[in-house]
Amino acid sequence: MRSASMVNRVTSRCWMGVVVLVLNGLSPHAGGAQVPLALRPPQSGMGPRLTVRPTVEPIPVQAHGRLHLVYELLLASFDSRELRVDKLEVFPDRSRRPLASYNSSELARVLFRAGDTLGAPNPHQIAVGTHVIAYMWVALDSAAQAPSSLSHRLTIVAVEGAREDTTSLETVSVPVSRDLPVVIGPPLRGGPWFANNAPSNDSRHRRVLIPFGGELRLSQRFAFDLVRYRGDSSGLPDPATYGSEVLAVADARVAEVIDGIPENWAPPQRPASRDARAVPMTPATARGNVVVLELAPRKFAHFAHLQPGSIRVKQGDRVRRGQVLGLLGNSGNSTGPHLHFQVSDTLGTSGHGLPFVFDAFEVFAIAPQRPDWRAHVVWFPPGTGKRRNEMPLHRWAIRFP
Ligand SMILES: [Zn+2]
Repeated sequence: MRSASMVNRVTSRCWMGVVVLVLNGLSPHAGGAQVPLALRPPQSGMGPRLTVRPTVEPIPVQAHGRLHLVYELLLASFDSRELRVDKLEVFPDRSRRPLASYNSSELARVLFRAGDTLGAPNPHQIAVGTHVIAYMWVALDSAAQAPSSLSHRLTIVAVEGAREDTTSLETVSVPVSRDLPVVIGPPLRGGPWFANNAPSNDSRHRRVLIPFGGELRLSQRFAFDLVRYRGDSSGLPDPATYGSEVLAVADARVAEVIDGIPENWAPPQRPASRDARAVPMTPATARGNVVVLELAPRKFAHFAHLQPGSIRVKQGDRVRRGQVLGLLGNSGNSTGPHLHFQVSDTLGTSGHGLPFVFDAFEVFAIAPQRPDWRAHVVWFPPGTGKRRNEMPLHRWAIRFP
């Protein structure tokens, strides 16, 4: 599921009170200020007028033996000059030793214009009056503890004709979220399952950042699409994917059910085109047939693209972990049979995506994201890929117990 335009009724989990800097290199009380500061024309040597604002508190989650901090920064230019980001550094707590540092080429992987998707030209330049998103994914050493806060330093170049003024901007401290990931069981039985578009800074789901209720939301921040593969080097899907039983990941209440949306196509049928959809894509149809479980207050597990008529629960039901919710299908904004799974803080798709960890699973292969990935699959020796209380990552082949 990759729609960026879905809207639903939600209540907001507001990220509050943790902003920002607007550093423009001048004191509002500087000499003879008859004109409001914001209305002054740019002056040579003036620092950039740029706000740097996180969309959420950095979210910690354990994966692949490391602690990951995931969030986004909104860089909004109020400058009349073009600005260029040359460096971005992340500092823990009060330390001056960076946790992460992105130079020019690394910034090409994290900076995107608002609304752009993967593959769009990279905007090192922030054009006059525009916004850029920095998709942050900071992986800490395995022994590291989560810092209680992060701050950032950006090296910004203001370009005015042939003149370039370089300024170092430092943000105020941003508290790291203390919210712990939900611990859940498998949404499907056994395996092998391939976690596509799964948690990573390069996942397609990671870019579905939408304005809603006056703030930026990314409900698919940690979403993934599960497809069953044969588990060999062929990389071919297993026809048994379609119709697999989709399971409740915890004891929970059924908070939302949508059914009756026809399949785009179903095996052994093949699609007329990759973009074939049985119904027009709207906020009401993009998820296809869906079940949403309320795992805890403001923690909802979403199971999307189910087969029409296969859903075995109704809104308000209490379900037990492992109970069958419905069957894996190909409805909604889907190119083939798969299960879209995510946890977020609201019903619908306009909430904030939250992390989750499976209490047990095994990774047995990792397929790097590159055109010739088949030649570069990393295979785990039997028994070495068992994971507890971790989140699987992008392009992992996994089994559930
Ligand atoms: Zn999806």
